[in-house]
Amino acid sequence: MPADEFSLIARYFSALGAGPAVELGVGDDCAILSLQAGERLATSVDTVVEDVHFPADSLPEDVAYRAVAAAASDLAAMGARPLGMTLALTLPAADELWLHSFSQGLAAAASAFSLPLVGGDTTRGPLTITVQVLGALPPGLALTRGGAQPGDGLYVSGTLGDAAAGLAVLQGRYRPGLDAAEYLEQRFFRPTPRLALGATLLNTATAAIDLSDGLLADAGHIAAASGVQLHIDAQALPLSSALQAHPDRAQALAWALAGGDDYELCFCLPAAVQPPAGCSRIGQVTAGEGVVCPGFEPLAPGYNHF
Ligand code: ADP
Ligand code: MG
Repeated sequence: MPADEFSLIARYFSALGAGPAVELGVGDDCAILSLQAGERLATSVDTVVEDVHFPADSLPEDVAYRAVAAAASDLAAMGARPLGMTLALTLPAADELWLHSFSQGLAAAASAFSLPLVGGDTTRGPLTITVQVLGALPPGLALTRGGAQPGDGLYVSGTLGDAAAGLAVLQGRYRPGLDAAEYLEQRFFRPTPRLALGATLLNTATAAIDLSDGLLADAGHIAAASGVQLHIDAQALPLSSALQAHPDRAQALAWALAGGDDYELCFCLPAAVQPPAGCSRIGQVTAGEGVVCPGFEPLAPGYNHF
């Protein structure tokens, strides 16, 4: 970046850093965050690249919001309490209009998900956004992919397939009515990481993952890590009214099963445990391996970059 890198940082990125865990934010060589006694640090990083993760004509504020939401979703999936985030931003040019809009989305997400921006890096190059999230886990607890047991129920939060349908709307592959189009596009650009749900599940769920690559692919990660088989009933998948209205139900179900980008949680609960509000039972855990979804074999794979 040119000589005004520091003024850009000061103008757009230094005011989003206040939070209960932040001892020292943007401006020094490192940020300092405080943990409570016995807590463990949970951390994850995600990169989004123009034309790979979002269309090149997306609004900068949507790009920022979605990048933070996707990263925050990993904290939700572990049951971690958000502490803060860092941002590595590579920009083709110091476009102040773009930066202004981007920082608006960043501020909205920082506030919505309790993730103060405590540091980062700013460089010149093809547009790339990397968000690292930092969270806290209480002593002895974490929501991993690895604990599902035969006999558990399989659940998801929210509704599935909306983000994939939203991308289809953005790309002109699907043209629903105006209200449905608007709703689906928002579900793509403004996903809701389930942070409060993750914190609740910390004490009850045996395994959890967030849905970034598509239900079938992500459920496969729980099956592999837990050494179990997951049975999914496609007819039990929760669909929004926008997707229920789709004329081709097979397409709606395909988005829900393999679409990706929903950032809902998929988790397993022992049979005696009631699911939290807003969650749906979609199947069960049995002995065996892999994911079975009658009527949808062979299974469509999730997104794979290589
Ligand atoms: P250093 O050279 O010590 O690594 P930098 O010059 O990269 O520091 O950054 C100066 C300060 O601004 C640091 O505190 C860094 O964390 C912060 N910073 C740089 N870029 C960003 C950004 N995009 N978002 C938030 N903070 C940033
Ligand atoms: Mg330094």
